[in-house]
Amino acid sequence: MSQTLSDNKEKTQKFTLSTDNYGMYIDGEWRQASDGATLAAFDPAHGTPLAQIPDATEQDVHDATKAARAAFSGWADTPVPARSQALLDIADLIEANVQYLATVESLDNGKPIRETSNADIPLAVDHFRYFAGCMRADEGASTMIDKNTLNIILREPLGVIGQIVPWNFPFLMAAWKLAPALVAGNTIVFKPSSATSLSVLELARLIDEAGILPKGVFNVITGAGSRAGEYILHADVDKLAFTGSTEVGRKVAMAAAEKIIPATLELGGKSANVFFDDADPQTAVNGVEMGILFNQGQVCSAGSRIFVQQSKLDDFMNLLKDSFSKVQIGDPLDPATEMGAQINGTQLDKILTYVEIGREEGAEVAIGGERINDGEMGKGVYMAPTLLVGNNDMRVAREEIFGPVGVVIPFKDEDDVVAMANDSAYGLGGGVFSKSLERAIRVATRVRTGRIWVNQYNSFPAGAPFGGYKESGIGRETHKMILDAYQQTKNILVNLSAEPAGLPFAAK
Ligand code: NAD
Repeated sequence: MSQTLSDNKEKTQKFTLSTDNYGMYIDGEWRQASDGATLAAFDPAHGTPLAQIPDATEQDVHDATKAARAAFSGWADTPVPARSQALLDIADLIEANVQYLATVESLDNGKPIRETSNADIPLAVDHFRYFAGCMRADEGASTMIDKNTLNIILREPLGVIGQIVPWNFPFLMAAWKLAPALVAGNTIVFKPSSATSLSVLELARLIDEAGILPKGVFNVITGAGSRAGEYILHADVDKLAFTGSTEVGRKVAMAAAEKIIPATLELGGKSANVFFDDADPQTAVNGVEMGILFNQGQVCSAGSRIFVQQSKLDDFMNLLKDSFSKVQIGDPLDPATEMGAQINGTQLDKILTYVEIGREEGAEVAIGGERINDGEMGKGVYMAPTLLVGNNDMRVAREEIFGPVGVVIPFKDEDDVVAMANDSAYGLGGGVFSKSLERAIRVATRVRTGRIWVNQYNSFPAGAPFGGYKESGIGRETHKMILDAYQQTKNILVNLSAEPAGLPFAAK
């Protein structure tokens, strides 16, 4: 079955970026790489270049960390209400520019404008507001250990934070990292993926023009992970905060261990999306699609293992095939588009290779399994929504494909599906679809994963902690608890007694 691309040129906007030659934002200034090296930013939907970005050198990263270090004490001493207000101002600024930022994000990443304008950018606004509120609401703590000992517990910012994010949600991941780190009083050296650096550079431009943050508090380094990314891991930073693949996450953890600094890691996944025979059929179909087609399947928590109760397998497959064949794929800037382009040709090749691996392992390709490249849009990198039917031992069920390819795996009963769901190196997301809430919650509690949705999938509200078990990472974002990971704890123990304190065994 082959699908065609929507090619609605007349509907897509004529759009101009603020520049086609971006600089990096270091110490409140825009600059090119010290050796002048650049990388090209691409529009994956049309296969055309968009702009140039600097490919940072070690000197650039050094300059950024130095600027962040110099800005630290001033920002750390800025009262919490003022730091919170900065976040509220950033939120307002993003909100006032939603359409512009959503369009930049869709162009640079290939994701549909209906997602960027309704999810990525508005969710980022809410994350800045949420953390502005959390910080104001933190009242600290003090207790009396005994009648003579006052125990004061203070929270202090950590210092300079190196933050590195992937390409799948460039703007939203930036908000998840920046909002808690900034409001807690830290200064930042931030690196987006070289595949998608434009939206965060645009954010830096807006913040700079509005004069919201003192210079050096927020620095953006652009460039390749193997250069700029590595330099950040080994730079003068007090914490590393990373979102990306488990493979690179390991390097981040090792770099942090060498320096004895903390690292929070949001890594990959191979999440189980479980459909019991009593699930509402339409809710279930929506759940599969949100799980594996949202953001072209390029979601860390993608519901990529689709467990379907054996008794309903045939009926459910028919519904899914019908619905997958109707997904509107094409130009991300067309408001009708439901699925846009994959991030780049390398990623598309990886996805297609996994489909082949699945075939060789004996999986049946129920729908899709191929690239879509008809007509003018064919220069873009589009993948058909794909369902394989296989088992939990196949590589396609164990390794992260990071594309719109779900593996349907039949199961008998609750124990059977819980065992398979847990038989994975990862533990990030997951879903349970059933009309029986008792059963859904029972299963949810038995699956070893950081987030599990019930009768819905892939929602990311502020206030709900998100992060992984096992190889999916260490730490929880999008909840006030991440503030702990961006602060040190200072304890002051005060002797209140009138008598001088002595050793308990000192002679009286
Ligand atoms: P990636 O690990 O290749 O790259 C992530 C970031 O790290 C990029 O900015 C990249 O330039 C940088 N990087 C690459 N090599 C580096 C190195 N040696 N040293 C330092 N930095 C380096 O991941 P990706 O392909 O950009 O993104 C996809 C991955 O991200 C998937 O595995 C996905 O599951 C994961 N992800 C996880 C979450 C989560 O919250 N758990 C969210 C989104 C994406």
